[in-house]
Amino acid sequence: MTAPLLGAFDVVVVGSGSAGSPAAIAAARTGARTLLLEKLPFLGGNSTAVLDTFYGFWTPGEQPSKIVSGIGDDVVTELRRLGPVVERPNTYGAGTGVTYLAEHLKVAWEHLVLDAGVRVLLHSFVQDVEVRDGRVAALLVATKAGLRRVEGRSFVDASGDADLCAFAGFAFEQAGDLAPAQTLTTTFRMGGVDLARRRTIDKSGLHALMREAAESGDYALPRREGSDHITPTAGVTATVMTRVTHVRRDGDTVVNATDPEVLTAAEIEGRRQALEYARFLTDRVPGYEQSSLIGLSTQIGLRETRRVHGDVRLDRADVLSARQFDDQVGLCGAPIEDHHGGEGEGTTWEYLPEGAAVGIPLRSLVVRDSTNTLVAGRCFSATHTAHASVRSMAQCMAMGQAAGTAAALAARGNGEVRTVRPAALRDRLRDDGATLEAAA
Ligand SMILES: Cc1cc2nc3c(=O)[nH]c(=O)nc-3n(C[C@H](O)[C@H](O)[C@H](O)COP(=O)(O)OP(=O)(O)OC[C@H]3O[C@@H](n4cnc5c(N)ncnc54)[C@H](O)[C@@H]3O)c2cc1C
Repeated sequence: MTAPLLGAFDVVVVGSGSAGSPAAIAAARTGARTLLLEKLPFLGGNSTAVLDTFYGFWTPGEQPSKIVSGIGDDVVTELRRLGPVVERPNTYGAGTGVTYLAEHLKVAWEHLVLDAGVRVLLHSFVQDVEVRDGRVAALLVATKAGLRRVEGRSFVDASGDADLCAFAGFAFEQAGDLAPAQTLTTTFRMGGVDLARRRTIDKSGLHALMREAAESGDYALPRREGSDHITPTAGVTATVMTRVTHVRRDGDTVVNATDPEVLTAAEIEGRRQALEYARFLTDRVPGYEQSSLIGLSTQIGLRETRRVHGDVRLDRADVLSARQFDDQVGLCGAPIEDHHGGEGEGTTWEYLPEGAAVGIPLRSLVVRDSTNTLVAGRCFSATHTAHASVRSMAQCMAMGQAAGTAAALAARGNGEVRTVRPAALRDRLRDDGATLEAAA
């Protein structure tokens, strides 16, 4: 690489989503000179560009227990300081949700990252990796000033799509190769909703109206069991309704969202569907009569793309048996929530035992083919089904905190992540407020 050197850091984090921002905060709080690279003009990834509800802080069920804390709590505290936050108790799905204003979260991430002393570069797209014998030496970053080279001792790939690992040639599984990839969703918000009238029908009533509308032939609604929810803003709801499954390319049908042409087609199809669902809501759903579309997600929501091969891969049996690991650095109680394709109702749920949580092992964050790279967030090392459980944003925050702390501890030496003793890391995470074991 011949690009000018932008700087040399102890820890470099790629991607600032609910995994990457906590990774950078944790690394900097642990004393590492830390750089956070983000291709978008703001921090947060899905948490700010697509969504507005953190799931995964509590186990689902009648007696929820809190299983994620640490930096995740700092984020919610900062959100509450900036404005309204709504807790939406939910015994189903991933448990109680914390619904926030995404615009506030953009600023909350900035406050926490900058307060920790992280150097941040927005509009910075990692394009290539310099790697020798599994050791990442530098990244090539596309910036407005041209290509720049960034050196680091240890690295965290929190790009969601595992870009760093893919560019470095480290092994990964592409979603769709072994099991149907989770579908893509453009989210949207509606304003001017009469919430009292909306509450006159429940979720199954909404789904019945969707089915009726789709079967009438007047509306093209590929998913017939999406949801809407209240937000902290009066008269505003947010939705998770659209479903982009198969994008045609070269006569084939694929959902590989790391293919630029497929991703472009998916963005266009997601927005087309969003307008169709908005039309259905205003025409057919009580409370939406006077409403209008007030916002589309900045980009389409990607549930899974590449999943890196780590030192271990979490699998379905681990999740459903709520397996515990000696080196676990976080917990997840969410069911396996698989959004697969097909017309109508294409989402399935499989639950852990009531109140239980599976451990997230440090080894699922250690990149198998690298000496100095960790992974965190939705590209961590798991099978398709295990990932369909362990992907909520609270779990991404826990993984990020663990990966960032481990990267900083590794960077005190030569950056080799396997030199970090799991017991020492776990002690440090506990001292920093993380929850590593479910309450007995
Ligand atoms: C439609 C949908 C609904 C969901 N609903 C919920 C929900 O309600 N609650 C919940 O908790 N979870 C939900 N999830 C799951 C959750 O949002 C994700 O699993 C989680 O946000 C992933 O976080 P992440 O940090 O791993 O990845 P991302 O949020 O994808 O962040 C990755 C970041 O890396 C950046 N990046 C990528 N490549 C590069 C590069 N080469 N160079 C520089 N930067 C790069 C991206 O711009 C992005 O900011 C949902 C997911 C989807 C798609």
